[in-house]
Parts: sequence; structure tokens; C-alpha cells
Amino acid sequence: MLVDKHTGETLSRVDKPAYEIIEPATQKSLSSEQYHRGLLNTLEDADADVHRLLTQEYDRQQNTLQLIAAENQCSRAVLAALGSVVQNKTTEGFAGARFHGGCEVVDCLETLAISRAREAFKANYANVQPHSGTSANQIVLMAILEKGDRILSLAMDQGGHVSHGAPVAMAGKIFEIEHYHVRSKDFLLDYDAIREQAMRFRPKLIICGTTAYSRTIDFARFRAIADEVGAYLMADVSHISGLISAGVHPSPMDHAHFTTTSTYKPGGPRGGLILMGRDFDLPFQAAGRTIPLWERIEKATFPGFQGTPYLNNIAAKAVFFKEMLRDEYRDRQSRIVENAKALAQEFVRLGYDVLTGGTDNHMCLINVANLRGGLTGLIAQKSLEDCGIIVNMNRLPYDSHNARITSGMRLGTPIVTKNGMRPAEMQVVSHLVDRVLTHVEILSEREYRLDPAFREGIREQVYSLCNRFPMQ
Ligand SMILES: *Cc1c(COP(=O)(O)O)cnc(C)c1O
Repeated sequence: MLVDKHTGETLSRVDKPAYEIIEPATQKSLSSEQYHRGLLNTLEDADADVHRLLTQEYDRQQNTLQLIAAENQCSRAVLAALGSVVQNKTTEGFAGARFHGGCEVVDCLETLAISRAREAFKANYANVQPHSGTSANQIVLMAILEKGDRILSLAMDQGGHVSHGAPVAMAGKIFEIEHYHVRSKDFLLDYDAIREQAMRFRPKLIICGTTAYSRTIDFARFRAIADEVGAYLMADVSHISGLISAGVHPSPMDHAHFTTTSTYKPGGPRGGLILMGRDFDLPFQAAGRTIPLWERIEKATFPGFQGTPYLNNIAAKAVFFKEMLRDEYRDRQSRIVENAKALAQEFVRLGYDVLTGGTDNHMCLINVANLRGGLTGLIAQKSLEDCGIIVNMNRLPYDSHNARITSGMRLGTPIVTKNGMRPAEMQVVSHLVDRVLTHVEILSEREYRLDPAFREGIREQVYSLCNRFPMQ
């Protein structure tokens, strides 16, 4: 419906067409409600193949145990926003300063997403445009670094993310990277060693935040090190941003210059987010001009790194950030940690080598090679998957196996917690995992054999557990 901005009257173009209608309209336009309803039926009619695969994926998620620490499950409201006509809008730039017409509504959506993100993370600045966590990181690098500048980040085999400077990825090709490591005796971050390394290497950027570290990160300590060597600090908190928003893990917001996260890991739509705390308007010198740091981030987003924003994802982020502010979400973050602790504790009791002896967050890292001679992360992942238990193999610090075999397994509790499981169920889960890993017959680093009757027995138990806690 179009409304005259000055008179408030409803405008009808059909009453007084400014052009000649050649064919009479044969179809009535649908309301938004009618247009979006039954999208799945529309898909079924249009493309039976994709519809069938989509149904199979729903069944897979429903009927198997989802324990991948990097995964979460968004709400149906988030899905609705993702699959909406907002997807059709194209523009460049930021709300209020776009390069295309027709942005009235999407400007409101982006502004809403920004204000909710700022509230959820107590941030002074939020940028909701990054297409992914990787893009968010690359935008920050683009904003503050020149070719050849130095980055100090966590080693890839110890929980660093490829976008933190792996030689095979963009940052690794453009910047000079040095990695810090966890201590080999207890796998904890050694802040004194990181400080010494920073003093020697003199990086322009230090990156903290990891994909595989189950203990609390001391962001204040990282900032003190960054200040001492005159570096910027970026906290990439993809895995723990949900916990941070609920106060279950300390926030980096006013310690790091930049905080980045993917938005699917805390349970929203796929996408990325850049947040800034007290340093959001620090002056930044570029090409003889001084601009605030946040503006530098926007220029690096567009035109620096990305083209058009995914406005439907931004609409979905707005929906998700509102969910983050609700009690249900905040309470769930504590239960996620409670469940992960219960899981880790039960594995320790069963004699497993749980890295650092437990967890402070949503993940539990296990050295499976230390459980049985010959067992690898790859065999653990595959044999568990055969039984309906979905985990991922993970390289461990100082791992003797490569990334395609690994000695480790990483488990996470966001999804099982969302669907209502509690510590009692975590016990059941750890026992199911244990039965598979102690039963599987190891043939080589990659090959194994599982008795079909045994496999079916575990599958049935997994199926009935999952169906007691269905997808919400
Ligand atoms: C998952 C993750 C990313 C990447 O996010 P994508 O949206 O998958 O690109 C970056 N950094 C860390 C620490 C992550 O865990």
C-alpha cells in the first residue's frame, strides 16, 4: 500500500494510471501473508528434487544428535525473514546513504538490526552487513592494515581460524603472520609468552578468539599486551558470542577495538557482525584525513570488501537480536554451559582425555587417540555418524595427525540444549558415544568396521532420544 507522505491518503495507482494499461490485470495481487504462506508447497510444485532433499535434511536434523560445536539452530521466525521478499531488494551503502532508490523499508530493517545488536552486546557501534564471520574479519583487516603489515594470531592447529592468517587464505597471503601457541603441558593460553612474542614481533594487529578452546579468554590481558606494543586488538568471538551476550562469558566489547562474530553460531541466520565498544570513534589517519574508526570500518565494508548487503539476512539478524534479549535465550546460554560441563565431567569419569580437564563454555575437546591405540578423530567422527551421532574431528594442539585425520573430537551443546536436553541427557549422550568408540573395530587410520546389529541398536536409542527432544 502506498501512502501520500504529505496528506496521509492511500494512493492507488490503478485508479489513475499515469500510463495506459494494455492488458487488463488477470490476477489479483496477494497480501504479504498470502504471498509468503505455504512457501514449501510452492517449492514442492516447482522443484520436487530440491524439495525432497530439503525434507531429508529436516529429517536428518530431527532424528540424529547434533553435537557440532560450530552449529546451532535458528528459530522459525528467523527462517521466515530469510525466506522473504526482502531478498529481492538490491542496494549498496548504508542506511540513509544508499546508491539505489526504494530503500525506505530496508533502511528501517537495517537500523533496527543495528540498534538491537548494540543492545544485545552493549556495543557503541554495530555493523550488520558482513556476509559471514570470515568477511567480518577480512573487513577489519582491510580497514586498518596495509599490505605487509604484521598480525599476531593463534596457530591454526590450536584453534586459530583460517581467516586469522592461514597461508592458504587471503590474510595469510597479504600480511606477515606470526602465530602464538597454547602451552604444551596444559593447553592453556600463556599470556606471558604471548606478551614476549608481541614485544619482539611488534604486530599492528593481535587477534584473539578461537574455534577450539574450552576455557575463558582473558580479553583485558590481551588488550594490555596490545597497548604495550601499540597494536589493535580484534576479538573474534564467533563460538562464544551467545554466551557473551548473556553474560555467561566475559565480554571483550570495551577491551578489543573490534569484536567480530558469525551470526549462525549463537543461533541466528548465517552472516557476520562487527561490533565496537569504547574505541569506536578513535581517530584513524588515512590518506591525509582523520576519520573515526567506525567510519573506516564502513568504508572497508563497502566499497572496500563487499558489494550489496544481503538484506534478507539483515532482516533475519534483526529478528535474532531481539531473541537474544529475551530471558529464554539468556537462560539457555547458562544451560548450554551447564550441559557442556556435565558432558565433559562424564567423559572424564569414563576415563577420557578431555583437554584442560573440562570446559567453561559450550564445547568439550577430547583426545580420542589417547582412548585406544589406533583410534583417530576421523574414525571417531565417521563411526559415530553411522550411529546417528554427529560430531566433528578436530586437530588438537601439537597433534601428530594431519587435519584430515586428527587425534581429536569436538562436541558442543547449543542444539541439544535448545531442544530441551539437560545434564541427565548429557550422561546418556556420553555413554552412547563411549559405547561406539570402545566397540568400533579399527582397521587403519581411516578404516574401521562396525557390526550392523550394534549400529542399529545405537541408532534406535539415538532416534528415540532425539524424538523426546524435537526441534523447536
Ligand atoms: C566459524 C568461525 C569463523 C567463520 O565464520 P563463517 O561465517 O563460517 O565465515 C571465524 N572465526 C571463528 C573463530 C569461527 O569460529
